[in-house]
Amino acid sequence: MIQAVRGFKDLYGAEVRCWQKIENIIKNCFNLWGFEEVRLPLLEKTELFQRGIGDDTDIVEKEMYTFQDKGGELVTLRPEGTASVIRFFNEHKLYGTEKFFKFFYMGPMFRYERPQKGRLRQFHQAGVEVLGDSSPLAELEVITLIMHLVEKIGIRNVELKINSLGCCNCRKAFREELVKYYQTKQEHLCNDCKRRLKVNPLRLIDCKSEVCKSLAIDAPVITAFLCGDCEQHFTQLKLLLSQHAIAFTESPQIVRGLDYYNRTVFELHSKDLGSQSAILAGGRYDSLSSNLGGINIPAVGWAMGMERVVTVANPEMFNDTEKLVFVAFVGDDVEKEALSLVYQLRKAGLKVEFDIFKGSLKSQFRRADKLSAKWVVIIGENEIKTGLFQLKDMKTGVQKSLTKTELISELTTN
Ligand code: ATP
Ligand code: MG
Repeated sequence: MIQAVRGFKDLYGAEVRCWQKIENIIKNCFNLWGFEEVRLPLLEKTELFQRGIGDDTDIVEKEMYTFQDKGGELVTLRPEGTASVIRFFNEHKLYGTEKFFKFFYMGPMFRYERPQKGRLRQFHQAGVEVLGDSSPLAELEVITLIMHLVEKIGIRNVELKINSLGCCNCRKAFREELVKYYQTKQEHLCNDCKRRLKVNPLRLIDCKSEVCKSLAIDAPVITAFLCGDCEQHFTQLKLLLSQHAIAFTESPQIVRGLDYYNRTVFELHSKDLGSQSAILAGGRYDSLSSNLGGINIPAVGWAMGMERVVTVANPEMFNDTEKLVFVAFVGDDVEKEALSLVYQLRKAGLKVEFDIFKGSLKSQFRRADKLSAKWVVIIGENEIKTGLFQLKDMKTGVQKSLTKTELISELTTN
């Protein structure tokens, strides 16, 4: 038999039910915060990501699913959502309508990485973007949303790490110091970083190889090089977070693997996740839109990895299993009546199952048990004659005789 492509996963059964519940919680929270959904294409022109994310980043260098379509156009399965949101926003000239925009998206992303626990080639993200505000209030808006989600999904042991990458002015001096530091350690660097040192030294701090990670610990930190404005922005943000009782750690090692960020960057980690511990990551990207040829508009956003969220979610937060009614029936002339009751109950908004193979009453009860039915309605020849149906509460064992009208009203009100 042909199998699924490596790093691509089928979602089904209990797992997909869990996803649906978490997705609903997330959409609910997005709605409370006033974010509007956008559903964007999975395929974009390769250039969008090359210019948006940056040529010497891991994503663009190694991880993109890129191919030439039959018309000869170079296209890529989206590895992330932000560049597409900015493309969409400018393409539809939405900037004329308001000054401030909040979008969210949910869906699959594609990266050619080594599949392992918490890392797939098709994975899923839910993300938000705030466009139009350069003040730290925009960061506060997206970070308070994170904390609300963490609470609603029941994620424990989280740590919010924040950092500031400054602007291109602050980064010039930092870059020089960084190159100086790493030049003395060049022979220990991984091959990628030897090259990155020349083209994009900031990337060295984000390298995943063990040696480079240990070298990054003593590297100069960007926050020591912030200009007055960037420093003030960062201080204001930290003050706002404290005022809203949001705990955070300052982590100069967080520089993010995408080039478009400036000033604030952040990641949410879970201590329950092992080595792939980032649940969510984001930051400010004030020049992405203009770099892509669009208008000049400041922006902040984040994206969270759904697979990792599902792993750390607390199932107790959403085990409100729907109440199932099982209609059991035996006897020759009862099928029509039983099925008409099934459809009537469903139309009344109840989840209803029955045994399509019409086994014995005993086997139908076994199936009702297996499906965790809350009630079983029993219909036999006698019930048809008297017009009274038997309703059994599966938890208490209590059985009642009810007319059809009484039965529907009892089930829909309980
Ligand atoms: P990492 O450092 O784990 O590679 P990243 O910096 O590449 O993460 P982002 O591009 O910021 O990740 O994506 C945001 C979130 O999406 C991550 O925090 C993670 O939860 C999730 N994510 C990223 N890549 C994958 C993947 N290949 N499989 C599953 N989840 C992923
Ligand atoms: Mg990555």
